Amino acid sequence: MDHLSSQIREGLQNGDLVYYLGRACRLCVTHSVWKRVSLESDVLHVALAHDADGERVRRLIDEWFVRRAREDLPHCFAEVLARHGWRLRHVRVPLVMRAPDRPLGLRLTVRPMRSRWGSCSVDGHVTLNAELVRLPHRLVEYVAVHELCHLVHHNHSAAFYFQVACCLPDWRQRRAELKAVALGKARGKT
Ligand SMILES: [Zn+2]
Repeated sequence: MDHLSSQIREGLQNGDLVYYLGRACRLCVTHSVWKRVSLESDVLHVALAHDADGERVRRLIDEWFVRRAREDLPHCFAEVLARHGWRLRHVRVPLVMRAPDRPLGLRLTVRPMRSRWGSCSVDGHVTLNAELVRLPHRLVEYVAVHELCHLVHHNHSAAFYFQVACCLPDWRQRRAELKAVALGKARGKT
């Protein structure tokens, strides 16, 4: 998984591979007066001014990933909540997403984070790192489950990991895979 980390902070150029939901996509850079990023099958098309360097290409793609993350990760999170939420007992916050008619439900924020993959507050505010949209779904699921389990145990005690194991029996494997992905220079934590 190291290949995923190296692309995050370096310049990018035509032909490089970037990862979207763990899938390798080939970068195709073309020149245009209109800046544009679009994914067609496994090719990520990037159009920008002809004098743009690799750093500008990377920045444009980073912005595209954040937009994708804000669309995709809430769906992933809702799916994980539906699949595993029933296993979480004695949670003070209703295990539904917050909505106008459900003001006490869970709140989800997706944003770029420097050194963590996610966080969860006692009152049910979950934050997911937008960089997760580059990783395979099984790792996004691990992070989402990890944060949801913090609603039961707000620490990393043995009881907490027992709760995680109830949801994902192979959590150790997934955590090891996640640890192999460096977040910039920092290690991702949850
Ligand atoms: Zn944690």
